[in-house]
Amino acid sequence: MTWETVIGLEVHMQLRTRSKMFCACSTAFGDPPNTNVCPVCLGLPGALPVPNAEAVRLGARAALALGCTLHHVSVFARKNYFYPDLPKGYQISQFDRPLATGGMVHFESAERGRVAVVIQRLHLEEDAGKSLHDRVPGRTAVDLNRAGVPLAEIVSGPDLRSPAEARAYLVALRQLLLYTGASDCSMEEGSLRVDANLSIRRAGESALGTKTEVKNMNSFANVERALEAERHRQIALVEAGKPVRQVTLLFDASTGAVRPTRSKEESHDYRYFPDPDLPPLVLTVEWERAQRDALPELPDARRERFMSAHGLSPYHAGVMASERELADYFEAVVGAGADARSAANWVAGDVMTGYNASGALAVDPGRLAALIALERDGVVSLQAARRVFGELGASTEPPRAVAERLGLLQVTDTDALATWVDEVLAGHPDELARYRAGETKLLGFFVGQVMKRSGGKADPKGVQPVLKERLG
Ligand SMILES: [Zn+2]
Repeated sequence: MTWETVIGLEVHMQLRTRSKMFCACSTAFGDPPNTNVCPVCLGLPGALPVPNAEAVRLGARAALALGCTLHHVSVFARKNYFYPDLPKGYQISQFDRPLATGGMVHFESAERGRVAVVIQRLHLEEDAGKSLHDRVPGRTAVDLNRAGVPLAEIVSGPDLRSPAEARAYLVALRQLLLYTGASDCSMEEGSLRVDANLSIRRAGESALGTKTEVKNMNSFANVERALEAERHRQIALVEAGKPVRQVTLLFDASTGAVRPTRSKEESHDYRYFPDPDLPPLVLTVEWERAQRDALPELPDARRERFMSAHGLSPYHAGVMASERELADYFEAVVGAGADARSAANWVAGDVMTGYNASGALAVDPGRLAALIALERDGVVSLQAARRVFGELGASTEPPRAVAERLGLLQVTDTDALATWVDEVLAGHPDELARYRAGETKLLGFFVGQVMKRSGGKADPKGVQPVLKERLG
């Protein structure tokens, strides 16, 4: 039996603001517990929330980048439930009138090629606090620093067909969101969290099976692992003639398994109603236009332009456009006069290696362009250029000075080349005699010996003509 997997994802993204969604408390990560709190986010009686304009702006930008329709009137609602880390007894969210609906994200699926995923909605809400189980032995402590931190929840349609597709979609979504600057999208610091819905059905069926919800996945790799585990669990159930029940499961990264939470926690009736303390959120056409105008060129468009305007391969265009910082860097190197394809080779190679290791682009674009020119003009070999690049991050010297200091300049001067050639020929009389007797394939041997004699500094393109002239 072939089974088809149907997956939809809910992504909670922390909006990159300095203060919380409805009060002036700091959103700084890692501060001592319960230091960033006030009457509003503690839910003290009489305290009134005021929406954070910057959070609304960032949420709207993300929605526009996702191709959503931005609603000019949206409503904050109370989502009522009881939990120790929720001081008010409700979370302020958006329910039947969200900020935005109806977007689309594209990604490349290994199985299906280019796939379009519908973004059903993006709404604004506040985060809850955090229960700490490891601070006080035998007890649970509560840290409310996160209570009230602004989030955008992004809900996809059930458009993904495998755990690998779920991961590829998340990579594309994260790239897009990072371009907008709406969030730093760090799973380690909890500014991007993913919940998944998964069901299976027989291949060819159109009705959806019973879905389960999987939570507690702290990396994209673990999203894929957790969904593989849940997919296998559901298939085993159905093939054994048992029903799939609608449950919430937690992923355990140490065992790679999913286990159900206590069923009591799922039977929620949130009793949503509009928050009487908050008027509807009203946005104007002009405001929306300003947000749209402020969006940068997005990854898909940039990738296309890198192919059409710079002649990059789809692979190189994809790598250059993968991050806004990298794409800006590539364009700056080209802007400083480097050939686009050489620049792409460098950026996809040594530049990326350094960037991935240190998180920084250590060599400014102008100096990389100068180095690329040295290699193009035969002043240094590619090997030597890579050594020079390795030195550039730590100094402010021009690339040519570094190459000189390291003795890496190629010697193109014919007199110097001739001296090495003569020395090599004098040192190999047997090979010389064989060459002159017609064994012309020995030319490569002589070029190699001249390179060796010069310590790698001879320009190989210059050596051949001098050799041929001497060999007569
Ligand atoms: Zn506060």
